[in-house]
Formats: sequence, C-alpha cells, structure tokens
Amino acid sequence: QSSVISDFDFFYFVVQWPGSYCDLKKACCYPTLGKPASNFSIHGLWPNYDDGTYPQNCDPSDTFDYSQIQDLIPQMNKYWGSLSCPSSDGTDFWSHEWEKHGTCSGGLSQHEYFAKGLALIKSLNLLGSLQNAGVKPSSQATYDVSTIQKALGSAIGFTPGVECNTAANKNNQLYQVYICVDKDAETFIECPVYPNGKCKPSVHLPTF
Ligand code: 5GP
Ligand code: 5GP
Ligand code: 5GP
Repeated sequence: QSSVISDFDFFYFVVQWPGSYCDLKKACCYPTLGKPASNFSIHGLWPNYDDGTYPQNCDPSDTFDYSQIQDLIPQMNKYWGSLSCPSSDGTDFWSHEWEKHGTCSGGLSQHEYFAKGLALIKSLNLLGSLQNAGVKPSSQATYDVSTIQKALGSAIGFTPGVECNTAANKNNQLYQVYICVDKDAETFIECPVYPNGKCKPSVHLPTF
C-alpha cells in the first residue's frame, strides 16, 4: 500500500460541516485563531481508486513543511482549520493530510496540493445552494437527504456523496460531503464510486 509511485483514479474532495463535528459527545476545540465561520470547511483532498480503495502514506520521506505553504496560511486558516482537540493552529491537521493523502496525489508539490484544495472550496457556494433549497442551519429542522444532495449537486454539477454522524442528542446530521474531482485536482466529475458513509432519509444541519 505504501509506494512512492502514486497512481490513483480520482480525488474525493471532502468538506465538513463544523456544527456536526462539534455537536458530538466527543468535544471539538476551536482553532487558536478563534471560532471559524458557520460554513463548510476542508477536511481533505484524497486520492482514491475507482474500486473504493485508496493509497495512503505514499512517501514517508516527504514530510510536511510549513515554510512551503507560508503564503497560503491566511487562506488555510479560513478554509482548512482544525476543530480537533486540543485547540491548534492547524499545522498537525495539514501535516496529517499531506503525509497521508497529499503524498499520493501523483506528484503535486505541497504548495500545489493545498492551493488546489483552497481553489476548489472557493469555487463552490455549498451553503448558498442549500439555502436556495430552503435548507438552513437549525437546531430543530430536518430535511430530506435527497433535497440536500440535489441542492449540493446543483452547486457542483454532479451529485456528491454525503456522510452523516450522530449528535449527542441522537440526531442524524450532515457531517461531510464527498465531492469527486478529476486527477487534475480541478475538474468536478461524476463520482466513479460513492463512499461508505450514509445518511438516514431525514437529516439535521445543526447550527454552529
Ligand atoms: P473514518 O474512519 O473517520 O471515516 O476515516 C478515517 C480516515 O480514513 C479519513 O480521515 C481518511 O483519511 C481515510 N478515509 C476514509 N474513507 C476514505 C475513502 O473513501 N477514501 C480515501 N481516500 N480515504 C478515506
Ligand atoms: P483523515 O485521516 O480522516 O484524513 O483525518 C482525520 C484526522 O485528522 C484525525 O486524526 C483527526 O483527529 C484529525 N483532525 C484534526 N482536525 C480535524 C478536523 O477539523 N476534522 C476532522 N474530521 N479531522 C480532524
Ligand atoms: P482520528 O483518529 O482520525 O483523529 O479521528 C477518528 C474519528 O473521530 C474521525 O471520524 C474524526 O472526525 C473524529 N474525531 C477525532 N477527533 C475528534 C474531536 O476532537 N472531536 C470530534 N467531535 N470528533 C473527533
């Protein structure tokens, strides 16, 4: 599974809803810079195979180097912050994503890898597309998962995969969206395979 030669078929561009990461029994912690916006943020850009498996940790010698993405840090803080505990400046999260996934991205440099992820999220108005479909963050409301997928699909051009988790109060809530991207790390494509994560028919989008 570990190889310097990183062939793969496509990327999952995975974004998370902060309200659903934090609304669990497990605590979340805001980044050292403060509470992020109530909007989707990046989890990762993950090389994947069409059969659903994926390469990881393709080049252990190519460790994360903060200095290579120095110019991207303000945008990284805005779009790719870490909500895990303890509070952090994101470096551990970015390091994990680069070393596990980025090193398998077919030769992208660290700077290219993170810049592509940032460009992808900036090109999408996921929250706006949900709002247009009447789906807005709420502690009470539930939405049909098909409404959510259709709305997100209208922003992307293709239907994404959706993954839900279970809140401390047992609500089924939208946690992550899996958006399929061509090997160029730029072009949205129809998903060759959908991830395992599932949602129940009725979904919450908790406030954050
Ligand atoms: P979890 O078990 O929390 O769903 O996923 C743990 C980690 O496995 C993720 O953070 C990600 O690094 C990796 N992972 C899970 N599912 C997929 C997948 O379908 N494709 C890829 N490329 N990585 C995945
Ligand atoms: P994956 O291996 O699934 O790509 O990434 C998950 C790892 O990143 C876990 O070790 C998790 O603790 C860490 N992590 C740090 N910050 C975040 C965050 O904001 N969201 C998620 N999903 N994982 C985070
Ligand atoms: P990891 O071991 O990769 O850190 O995380 C395993 C699972 O637990 C992932 O699905 C991740 O999203 C979740 N997770 C990890 N750390 C935290 C945390 O601090 N808060 C919450 N709510 N979930 C976390």
